[in-house]
This record gives sequence, structure tokens and C-alpha cells, in this order.
Amino acid sequence: MMSCKEVSRLLSASMERKLSLWERIGLWIHLSMCKLCQGFSKDLQQLREAARRHAADVESDAIDSDTALSTESRERIKRALESHD
Ligand SMILES: [Zn+2]
Repeated sequence: MMSCKEVSRLLSASMERKLSLWERIGLWIHLSMCKLCQGFSKDLQQLREAARRHAADVESDAIDSDTALSTESRERIKRALESHD
């Protein structure tokens, strides 16, 4: 049986690497019995979910600002052409 310390270490490690089958089984057994680590695991999952959502937000922001930039530069070119006439 893993200790809570080992479990929290493995849960953190699972954010960066794939856990081995035995590590996952050990986690699963511990988590099915330990409310404390269940809570920690849930917190970590929410954190990971929030980080993923944030990354997606940043990505869509980048796309938005790209579109805004190209629209703006298109307008500038149009204005430059009009003023040339
Ligand atoms: Zn525990």
C-alpha cells in the first residue's frame, strides 16, 4: 500500500509523464480508500482542466488578434489606395 506522500508525488508526476500500470493500480487502490488523496486528485484534475482551457483560450485569442490585424492592415491598404487617387 502506498503512502499518501507517494500518492501525491505520483499524482503530480502524472501531469508530466505517463504512469506505469503498477503505479496506476497502486494509485487506484489508494484512492479508493483514502478520502484525503481523492480530494487532492480531484483538485489536480481541475487544475489540469483549467490549464487546458486557459491554453485553448490563449490559442483562440491569438487567432482573433491575427484576424483583427489582417483586417486592420487591409483597411490601411485600402485607405492608402483611396488617398492615392
Ligand atoms: Zn492518501
